[in-house]
Amino acid sequence: MPDRLVLFDIDCTLIDAHGAGGRAILRAIKDVYGVEGELGDYSFHGRTDPGIIADLAALWGADGRGDVDECITRYVDLLRREIDGGEVETLPGIRELVTALAADRRALVGLLTGNIEEGARLKLEPTGLYSLFKVGAYGSDSALRADLPAVAVARAETLTGRRYAGKDVVVIGDTPADVECGASLGVTAVAVATGRHSVDELAAHAPDHLFADFSGWRAAYDAIIG
Ligand SMILES: [Mg+2]
Repeated sequence: MPDRLVLFDIDCTLIDAHGAGGRAILRAIKDVYGVEGELGDYSFHGRTDPGIIADLAALWGADGRGDVDECITRYVDLLRREIDGGEVETLPGIRELVTALAADRRALVGLLTGNIEEGARLKLEPTGLYSLFKVGAYGSDSALRADLPAVAVARAETLTGRRYAGKDVVVIGDTPADVECGASLGVTAVAVATGRHSVDELAAHAPDHLFADFSGWRAAYDAIIG
């Protein structure tokens, strides 16, 4: 039985969808809440889809109009069109790293992402890697990223009968929110600077391991499984 639960963030960790998710979510908010506006300092990175929808609807003065579930349904339709018409880039070393971990009996590989589950599937199917992720915790489980590690741990226990705890849970992501979301569970945090946050910025949040990218994926593999 695997003794390590390895959980990957999606956007800017596994893939770059070239803004497909952001475009779909802004359009869905406009269609369902009837509002739009400037993002200002607001960043999507490290947040969840329902959290982003609620934040921006409030920021732009939706005043109780619209509905998060309806907006998510619209978002899924729009995202499907974006993904069909666009390009999902698998980030350097990811194909090798995820494939090697999925083939390693010591690792149970999964997702920990602010994407809703259907959005995660749409974004990852073009990479051919989607079937390698055996468990997941999603933005559709909670709008708060800090809730998601416990959801993933519970699903992994249902799947394997094993209770993954502490450093045996590995959370991999590109934002300070990814580094910090598992802190209360004492997980191993692996940060990768393939998103908006630099190596220096991520280092300030003291992840257990930090990489500029996964092009030298064996070092990450050793850090995750070692
Ligand atoms: Mg990310």
